[in-house]
Amino acid sequence: CGIIGCVGREDDTLDVLVHGLSKLEYRGYDSAGVALSGDRVDVCKKSGKIEDLKGALEPRSIGGAAGIGHTRWSTHGPPTDANAHPHLDCTGDVAVVHNGIIENYQSLRDELVAVGHTFKSDTDTEVVPHLVEDALADGADNEAAVREAIDRLDGSYAVAVVVSGDDTIYAARNDSPLVLGIDDEDEGRPAYYLASDVPAFRDFTDRVVYLADGEFATLSADGWRVSDVDGNAVDKDVDTVDWDP
Ligand code: GLU
Repeated sequence: CGIIGCVGREDDTLDVLVHGLSKLEYRGYDSAGVALSGDRVDVCKKSGKIEDLKGALEPRSIGGAAGIGHTRWSTHGPPTDANAHPHLDCTGDVAVVHNGIIENYQSLRDELVAVGHTFKSDTDTEVVPHLVEDALADGADNEAAVREAIDRLDGSYAVAVVVSGDDTIYAARNDSPLVLGIDDEDEGRPAYYLASDVPAFRDFTDRVVYLADGEFATLSADGWRVSDVDGNAVDKDVDTVDWDP
């Protein structure tokens, strides 16, 4: 029931994600997971507490410049490791986290299975990485592929996507909260965040951009951009939150 993402943190991406997930615990959850995008996409996910996820992460070294994390409150499929987010496509290059409910997932899933996709979970969410995979296979670039996938969804969603070899987070929302955190004013490398709620990244920045329904965001170390469903740039206000972490 919560999403966190960050780009530009280099070495401590994973720590920032796990910290953000702990800050989102108050929203309730039954499973948690993370995906980091480097040369490949690395995923770790567990049913149970964030402590369980930390335990699963301990023996592993997982790194990457762009990362997304998720706490799940099951709606489709029981709280198992397989149903925990992030979900992957068949190639393992596309990882997706999602809050909400995709109303038309069954027809999308039937369509995808009919053209050869294999599913590993019972979730509504898993259609998203497979839709992105198909659009990529048709020659779309990463942003266009994510947009095409999002266009197919009916229902409520906050979605964040990473693709291997690309240190960008692609995100979209409809009827589910999503806010960006902007940390590019100080000396040094800029970092950008994405979350269901500000406390997830408030320890790192107090500058925020609230996404509206139908908006699409891209975040990379080079900057952030918000656009509408047609891809036109939207001029967003950067607000400053007036409470301390
Ligand atoms: N419907 C999705 C699932 O059951 C997402 C649930 C959530 O918002 O955490 O996995």
